[in-house]
Amino acid sequence: LASRDFHPLDTVIKIKDVEIGGEQLVIMGGPCAVESPQQIDEIARIVKAAGAQVLRGGAFKPRTGPYSFQGIGVEGLEMMAEAGKKHGLLTITEVMTPEYVDVCAEYADILQVGTRNMQNFDLLRKLGTIKTPVLLKRGFSSTYDEFLNAAEYILAGGNPNVMLCERGIRTFESYTRNTLDLAAVPALQSLSHLPVIADPSHGTGRRELVEPMSKAAVAAGANGLIVEMHTDPDNSMTGDGVQSLFPQQFAKLMQDLEQLAPLC
Ligand code: PEP
Ligand code: MN
Repeated sequence: LASRDFHPLDTVIKIKDVEIGGEQLVIMGGPCAVESPQQIDEIARIVKAAGAQVLRGGAFKPRTGPYSFQGIGVEGLEMMAEAGKKHGLLTITEVMTPEYVDVCAEYADILQVGTRNMQNFDLLRKLGTIKTPVLLKRGFSSTYDEFLNAAEYILAGGNPNVMLCERGIRTFESYTRNTLDLAAVPALQSLSHLPVIADPSHGTGRRELVEPMSKAAVAAGANGLIVEMHTDPDNSMTGDGVQSLFPQQFAKLMQDLEQLAPLC
């Protein structure tokens, strides 16, 4: 079902007035994690003013260590839904377990499956039973074929609203956090009809590389970007402050992107 042979036309996922996979470039911006009502409200205001369409933020965080901040949970979903509504933005948040799919879908417009859960087949099957759009991140050691098979689990369950996200893979290079595989963008678009989103934040792990790699991803044909931005990145509650743009950098990136592709 994910294959271009089966479905020659591009899939366009329409959520309210935003079309993902069509002519419009869709930008999702926001913090790694929802931290407080004030934090997410202020960031939502900046995301909207910059011209992006979707607010990102994790309430459930998949952390490498069990003692690290794990996200604030359902309260974070509420805070983000409220900020999204107030500022007229769609919202995207990560869901990690099948049990939390329904509650996350109640609060968010798009559900994110993180790189570590790309082959959490019970989660994928559960996501197949609803219609909420899913942004499926590529496993950091997965091939395109494994990635498309993971998407297939969701599609096979009856949810056609899947977008693929290239977020970088593990290579021998250690300067960057991951290696953003930009060939994945056109390759996945030729193998599949699903929209392809790039994540230059996790794909590089370095703030100064986010702008050039965002532009490169758009030049490669990405249907959208998911970008971390924080008002106080040095004090963010996850380690991802180092890859988060400052608000002014996010606004500048949005202006530059408008030269490359229509935002609405
Ligand atoms: C995130 O988006 O904050 C995240 C944890 O992403 P990934 O699953 O790509 O590491
Ligand atoms: Mn993050």
